[in-house]
Amino acid sequence: MVDPNQNPTCVFCRIIGGDETVSIIHEDEEVIAFLDVQPLHRGHVLVVPKAHHKNLFYVPEELATRTFAVAKRILPGLRRATGCRAVNLFSPNGADGGQDVFHFHLHLIPVPQGAPFPLQLPDPNAEVPSRSALDAMATHIVRSIHDEQDAEAALPEHAAIPR
Ligand SMILES: [Zn+2]
Repeated sequence: MVDPNQNPTCVFCRIIGGDETVSIIHEDEEVIAFLDVQPLHRGHVLVVPKAHHKNLFYVPEELATRTFAVAKRILPGLRRATGCRAVNLFSPNGADGGQDVFHFHLHLIPVPQGAPFPLQLPDPNAEVPSRSALDAMATHIVRSIHDEQDAEAALPEHAAIPR
């Protein structure tokens, strides 16, 4: 039987359905975690909610919370197992950001001491905007958050946000 929450063309759904083999480190009713087959560093883990949602924009808040909670639970053991003192979290949310599998996922990436990590913040070449530019951007974002919330509240009860 095809699970209506899953998408047969999605590699993560096939993994969750048992059609692809992965090395699982955690599984419960809602969330699975397994080793990335193309690790950035040894012990690179993917944490994935079982229901198919394109990315964080579409994941119900409670399921997003569950996914982050599983990541939080994995972290200490992952640090111990790899001997890495740092474990970075990364989640691409959109093709422009490098998302390749369109099923929400969190990367947990152990970073060995002295090893390069592709995203280093702050970027030493970043321009520092003026306080007024930062304040204007903050105001713009806050207004947009409210506009999004108003737009969502205006939707009829049964209207699903398209995936
Ligand atoms: Zn999927």
